[in-house]
Amino acid sequence: MSKILDGKVIKMERKEKFREAFAELGFVSTLAIIQIGNREDSNSYIASKKKFGTEIGVKVEHIIFPENVHENEIIAKITELNDDKNVNGIIVQLPMPVSIDKDKVIDSINPKKDVDGLTSTSLKYLYEGKEGGFVPATTLGILNLLDYYKIPLEGKKVTIVGRSSLVGKPTMLALLNEDATVTICHSKTLNLKEHTQNADILIVAIGRAKFINHEFVSSGQIVIDVGTNMVDGKIVGDVDFDEVFDIVEAITPVPGGVGQMTVLSLFENVLKSCKK
Ligand code: NAP
Repeated sequence: MSKILDGKVIKMERKEKFREAFAELGFVSTLAIIQIGNREDSNSYIASKKKFGTEIGVKVEHIIFPENVHENEIIAKITELNDDKNVNGIIVQLPMPVSIDKDKVIDSINPKKDVDGLTSTSLKYLYEGKEGGFVPATTLGILNLLDYYKIPLEGKKVTIVGRSSLVGKPTMLALLNEDATVTICHSKTLNLKEHTQNADILIVAIGRAKFINHEFVSSGQIVIDVGTNMVDGKIVGDVDFDEVFDIVEAITPVPGGVGQMTVLSLFENVLKSCKK
């Protein structure tokens, strides 16, 4: 295993395979991305999805609503996309403005087109450990990355820091389904360092730049940094990469780690939707 768990390398390696798989379908598949507002981080995530989609022959339709849009308008658009047989996947870029009922909007997506795996139907499959739904793209990206580097999960102690519905919780369920022993931590966790140091695999998704320093890790660990924070115009993770690099066994870089895997796994879900 290499010390750096490189999502960019995996994405480049798999690009051609994806291009061929989408070409073999015999039709141009379409992913619809709905954006509400104009957040800088969302713009950059969407740009990389559009770029990768174009490279592998998937049409990406980008629909933008203003920040003050009423949720009924978004739901009406989603209903239209649900009924459009040329659209194979629909995602709503998160976070969305707090004034909008996120769950209502997400649950209006037809579960067959829910390639971000965030509808209650998809999440129920994950909860029950059953096939049939879509696994959320970031969670699937983490699983794919661990699988690529042949990092076993069965019986391993995994600590996840962060309990969001987008990353922490679905990742907890997916790892449990892979027979890992999972501890999930959050801002009210006492003795956080004990939990992080004790893990074989440490996954961090808190949105706090370089929060996890040398005091939180121990030797032999695999560290997966989901965090994406903009600091002085540069993207940095939740882990202080330079501080922990010499201590741990392997680590994902930011950028170039989980973010790349999220994009790749999103299109894996689009392909799955097309085949269905
Ligand atoms: P979120 O909804 O803000 O959740 C953050 C979580 O971290 C919460 O559970 C919070 O605890 C916990 N937390 C915050 N400060 C903490 C602390 N000091 N100690 C322990 N736990 C703490 O964030 P998110 O949507 O999960 O995103 C997390 C990060 O991942 C962000 O940087 C985001 O940009 C990034 N992200 C990256 C990708 C990717 O593809 N690379 C995808 C999605 C998100 P409480 O629940 O107690 O408040």
